[in-house]
Amino acid sequence: MLPLEALKHYFGYEAFRPGQAEIINASLNQQDVLAILPTGGGKSICFQLPALLKPGVTLVVSPLIALMLDQVLALQKNGIPATFLNSTLAAAEARARIHSILNGEVKLLYVAPERLVSDSFTALLANIHQTVGIASFVVDEAHCVSEWGHDFRPDYRQLSRLRELFPSIPMMALTATATHCVRADITEQLSLKQPFIHVASFNRPNLYYEVIEKSRGKVSLSELTRYIKKTEGSGIIYCMSRKNVEKLASELNENGISALPYHAGLNNDTRTDHQTRFIRDDVQIMVATVAFGMGINKPDVRFVIHYDLPQTIEGYYQESGRGGRDGEPARCTLFFSPGDIKQADWFIQNKVHPETNEPLEDEQRIARQQLRQIAAYADSTLCRRTTLLGYFGEAFPGNCGQCDNCRFPKPKQDWTIEAQKFLSCVARTGERFGSRYIIDVLRGSTRDKVTKNGHETLSTFGIGLDKSIKEWQHLARSLVQQNLVNESDDGHGILTLNTLSWAVLRGQHQVWVALPNQLSKEKVTIEKEPDLGPIHTGLFQSLRTLRKELADDQGLAPYMIFTDSSLKEMARYRPCSLPSFSKITGVGDKKLEVYGSIFVKHIFTYCQQHRLHEAMPRFIPSETPTEKKPTARERTLNVCKLFQRGLYPQDIAKSLEMKVQRVYEHLADGIEAGQIPSIERLVSPERQTMMLKAFDKHGADRLKPIYEELNEQFSYEELRVMRALWKVTNRN
Ligand code: ADP
Ligand code: ZN
Repeated sequence: MLPLEALKHYFGYEAFRPGQAEIINASLNQQDVLAILPTGGGKSICFQLPALLKPGVTLVVSPLIALMLDQVLALQKNGIPATFLNSTLAAAEARARIHSILNGEVKLLYVAPERLVSDSFTALLANIHQTVGIASFVVDEAHCVSEWGHDFRPDYRQLSRLRELFPSIPMMALTATATHCVRADITEQLSLKQPFIHVASFNRPNLYYEVIEKSRGKVSLSELTRYIKKTEGSGIIYCMSRKNVEKLASELNENGISALPYHAGLNNDTRTDHQTRFIRDDVQIMVATVAFGMGINKPDVRFVIHYDLPQTIEGYYQESGRGGRDGEPARCTLFFSPGDIKQADWFIQNKVHPETNEPLEDEQRIARQQLRQIAAYADSTLCRRTTLLGYFGEAFPGNCGQCDNCRFPKPKQDWTIEAQKFLSCVARTGERFGSRYIIDVLRGSTRDKVTKNGHETLSTFGIGLDKSIKEWQHLARSLVQQNLVNESDDGHGILTLNTLSWAVLRGQHQVWVALPNQLSKEKVTIEKEPDLGPIHTGLFQSLRTLRKELADDQGLAPYMIFTDSSLKEMARYRPCSLPSFSKITGVGDKKLEVYGSIFVKHIFTYCQQHRLHEAMPRFIPSETPTEKKPTARERTLNVCKLFQRGLYPQDIAKSLEMKVQRVYEHLADGIEAGQIPSIERLVSPERQTMMLKAFDKHGADRLKPIYEELNEQFSYEELRVMRALWKVTNRN
């Protein structure tokens, strides 16, 4: 079986996510692999698929027992022979499992790292190696091997023994941690041999990022309740303190929203129980401290709220990243008030040595730098993705259309004069200070430090009283973000002038500052999430209920039966026969067999009651599914599905292994066939209007006259897509 066929057969997916195909190929070629993919990037399939295609057993090392159980259950639901061995099993059960492994009945064997060190286990491995063969070693959550990582586990260090004992067996390491130190450490600690390295983009196109200003420094319960009622599905709310977690959870329950608390102060059993109830959709919301989330595998979290300012951007990225692992839209909301910075700063000031009470200066310095970065994110008027990805060293051009700043750009004001005052103060104080000090001088503070330096005699002393400290801070952050001044990243935040700063000072460069909501005194409202095209919500809800009933019957988490994305597709296309149903993403052969008729019957009955029909896209051919190469129509359908799921043409091109131009051609076909309701993400409304006018004038037979009419300002790809849209509009 080819990898792509196996993907549909076992998992019911049409196309690989970016990187998966390359990683799988390397593994099939017996190469070592280091794969770095963001949460939700689809790491599991990278090792599960090769395991199914190679002879022998694949050994998977995974740090958390609960996670292991979930993964194995989910695999078994897809008809994949997987099992695990760990300390929770009774001796007889363990023996039975070992027996079936040695009989060649198991393809994936999950173990916890502490097992590996025991002599009896290495003896078992040798036995497996000789009888059925070991296909490869997989180290999941491989950052645990590194002391630089946030989750170091000494047991992981023992994994290098596997290499010594079985040098010829290839190894694959996977993690979602992005830093260079950790990456290098993994390669070294596991002695990976010239590994194939894949570092995926950390962009998560299906996540919508936003920052909402807390009114009067607080999130009102009614505002929060409204938000939750509007955003359907499971959610996580992160709070800083245990006390707030408890309080908020009970307030939500009082307001008719089911929520459970989770923090390190609860005992183990309670925590596991709350987690299970969340994963099984018995309760909608988990209110938690950051203790929650590592190693929970719930792909259908629809929103992640941060009630308090996170401590670092990395932390924020990982925590918010727990939303939308299934690739469906999810909303990441940070509630923020400038007062949060002050409070965090106060905490940092109180970081002292527990015995000597001396301030821990290094820690304080690092924490301050991290605070400045996360505050800049919260306060930024730039595309949120640009800021987040920039933190991981990834350039993102902005204009993502999927963050508050891109969708609702804030009004801008000309602050050139203020910027000149500020920068000249930086120059006159000798480029030796951070923004706080500069603002003190501008506002004429007679703080000791200012007078000691004699800065009360400068011409810029006290010329900034017309603006508040807050406004000056906002300007300072904006100047740094726009690269109009440099800020050192050693934790001191020293400002120095660059070429652009001098251009501003000489009056050659205007400075526009976007006003954050609080300064422009605009009321912030929570916006509806982007439209996803026609889904029959009644049917979707009833499918969710059906899924929950089946899951409860079998003691499973609902997502193990079908994910939200599959249910949404069912609600959109309403497949009323088994062949149609088999085309739904996530329906592999095993699930078709087990659940196909139950779901088809349900959908059929629903359609009859509501006078609806099957609405499978007309691209789906009715011929036999054994056909190897997808037809052009199927390709168009796949491209459109991925686009609707939030991927950009470049990503689609990569995952379907086709040229970007071809992707645009398929998108154009899809638009003509009514598969794509909105193309704002591809072409801005202004550009659309300009092109539509040109088509009105010249018709749509040839693109060249249009290209020339528009002064060659538009690419042929854009024109093709717009031609399709123009045709559709003119048809009706
Ligand atoms: P990670 O471990 O990287 O966070 P998972 O392996 O749990 O990600 O995958 C996240 C979700 O994406 C799962 O629900 C998985 O089934 C789904 N997924 C993985 N690969 C694909 C694919 N090629 N097409 C569609 N869905 C996929
Ligand atoms: Zn954006």
